[in-house]
Amino acid sequence: MTKSETWYKKGLKFSCTECGKCCTGSPGYVWVNTQEMEEMAHFLAITLDEFKRKYTRRVGSRFSLIEMKQTYSCIFLKDNKCRVYGARPTQCKTFPWWPQNISSEKAWKGAAYSCEGINDEAELVPTETIQEQELIQIGRNEDNS
Ligand code: SF4
Ligand code: SF4
Repeated sequence: MTKSETWYKKGLKFSCTECGKCCTGSPGYVWVNTQEMEEMAHFLAITLDEFKRKYTRRVGSRFSLIEMKQTYSCIFLKDNKCRVYGARPTQCKTFPWWPQNISSEKAWKGAAYSCEGINDEAELVPTETIQEQELIQIGRNEDNS
C-alpha cells in the first residue's frame, strides 16, 4: 500500500516504554530462523546447537523461542527486560508495525489495549518508517527457513 493509500498518512504515535508486556501474558510464538538463532547464540557466546536446545522449541519445521509455563513469558524476559535485546529477532524488532496491527484504525486501537507505548502522547513515527518495518515483517512471515 502506498503512503497516499494508507489510513495513517501522517504517521502513528508510538514510543516503547520497555514495559515488557509484549513479551509475556498470553501464549504465542516468537519465530526465529537460522540466521536469527545464530545471531542470538553469538550474542550469548554459545553454539547454535546449545541455543536451539536451551531456548527454542520446534513447531513443525520451524523454531520458536520457549515460553514459560503459566506466565507465558518469553524465556529471555527477565525483570521485564529482554536479555538478548541487541540481537532480538525480527518479529520483536518490528513490533508494533505488524500488518495485523496497522491494517485499520480499529486494529491499531485494539493493539493499544495491550501496548502502552501506543498513545497520543507518544512520538509520531513517520509513515515511511512504519511501512518499511511492516515490509520487513511481511518478508519475515514469508520466510519459513
Ligand atoms: S508492550 Fe509496547 S510499550 Fe511495552 S515493551 Fe512492548 S512495545 Fe514496548
Ligand atoms: S526475544 Fe526479547 S523482545 Fe523478543 S519476546 Fe523475547 S524477551 Fe521480548
